[in-house]
Amino acid sequence: MSMTNIPGASGIIQNEPLLWEKGKKGRRGMSIPASDVPAAEFPQDLQGEGPAFPDLSEVDVVRHYTRLSQWNFGVDTGMYPLGSCTMKYNPKINEKVASTPELAAAHPMLADEQVQGTLRIMYELQEYLAAITGLPGVTVQPAAGAHGELTGMLIFAACHKSRGSRRTKILIPDTAHGTNPASAALCGYKPVPIKSGPNGIMDVQSIMAVMDEETAGIMITNPNTLGLFETNIREIAEIVHGKGGLVYGDGANMNAVMGIVNARKCGVDVMHLNLHKTFSTPHGGGGPGAGPVCVTEELARFLPTPLAVKDGDTYRLEYNRPESIGRVHAFHGNYSVLLRAYSYIRTMGAGNLKKASMLAVLNAAYIKEKLKGTLPLAYDRPCMHECVFSDALLQEDKITTLDFAKRLIDCGYHPPTIYFPLVVHGAIMIEPTETECKDDIDQFIEVVKMVVREAKENPELLRQAPMRAKMRRLDETLAARHPCLRG
Ligand SMILES: *Cc1c(COP(=O)(O)O)cnc(C)c1O
Repeated sequence: MSMTNIPGASGIIQNEPLLWEKGKKGRRGMSIPASDVPAAEFPQDLQGEGPAFPDLSEVDVVRHYTRLSQWNFGVDTGMYPLGSCTMKYNPKINEKVASTPELAAAHPMLADEQVQGTLRIMYELQEYLAAITGLPGVTVQPAAGAHGELTGMLIFAACHKSRGSRRTKILIPDTAHGTNPASAALCGYKPVPIKSGPNGIMDVQSIMAVMDEETAGIMITNPNTLGLFETNIREIAEIVHGKGGLVYGDGANMNAVMGIVNARKCGVDVMHLNLHKTFSTPHGGGGPGAGPVCVTEELARFLPTPLAVKDGDTYRLEYNRPESIGRVHAFHGNYSVLLRAYSYIRTMGAGNLKKASMLAVLNAAYIKEKLKGTLPLAYDRPCMHECVFSDALLQEDKITTLDFAKRLIDCGYHPPTIYFPLVVHGAIMIEPTETECKDDIDQFIEVVKMVVREAKENPELLRQAPMRAKMRRLDETLAARHPCLRG
């Protein structure tokens, strides 16, 4: 494949100064007819030191913002194969629905009878998420997955307290997202790491060995962050329940199993969903998101207050919930995110949600099979929505996973997730999602093969990469330690 066939690889990079540097005295955005009345004196008390706005033409302004927009790579620009995050294309219709003025501009303190539509959507979304997970109690308040985890851990603690016990530990597999132990620790639980088996999933024996009556429960991500289905989840749940513990399901990877796996039947008691991963809120840039929490009937009384409920034909917020853990978010949660999820679920329908999951898995399995002769697979077994390769082959040529990822930028691709999960050395984690077509996936596969060939034949290309990006290699540690927030 020649470089010119690769999307985004022909490499025009426009530099762009600040508008203040660009302005020239006397430029105008538009010309208006000369005034035919005498100029009025500008009121004395309004003449101050105000900001000196630059003088700019219309062309200056249009080019400025267009160029800035081109520095951004997003899922609207090309494939975005980050694993563990589900960066899928979200249909634009859901953005339009989310900006409906009657919903977007509704004041959060309006009385229930004035916002029946708003409450109906909350109520119906709760019902849809209950149907999708098999867990009937739902709160849509939490603002993100991690916030859902915290809510779930508070519910664990409330449940154990109601049973007259206070437990101290939570089991968490070594493949878990870092937010899992953090959420458990915030609730005062000690996270106990569980080593995954040699096949990348948890085995029953290791749970049996540590589960005791001091342990409040377990947090399980399924499919896990290696993209593998935890096939022992039911037996593990039985062991945990047998000792009076609870099972938390981290639903961040729901994109692989919508309409296919019923969390309740797997033994899950509490589960969060990331609406900004699975249910059509654009993901990235720091939010907003939403992490609704779904629970069993038994645990519903502990859910945050208020919940949207339906009496006959009317909807209202129910505050009278004496055993609730309380509020976790002001007002209605991140309502615009809830709206997008509602619109997504309604426009897709149950059949298409299931199909989306099947296609997400098919696409990842296709990439895994096509690339497994090119890069070593971390675990050579059926994958779900993402597949993970190791750097074992690149190392032979003294190329790092980072070099490989940076070279993909030169080829017009956003790199996949790298160095995560931590259990795989130099991990390269690819999640294509259901929204990439076969032609685009095939092109990505060809580019990965080309870069791996280059690692052997011309390793400097990788070590120097990116050469066609606006910035070269950034000092990421410095950026994290001393962020420059003033632009
Ligand atoms: C993204 C993610 C989370 C955290 O969700 P946020 O919405 O980013 O807070 C937790 N667990 C897994 C497996 C994830 O992928």
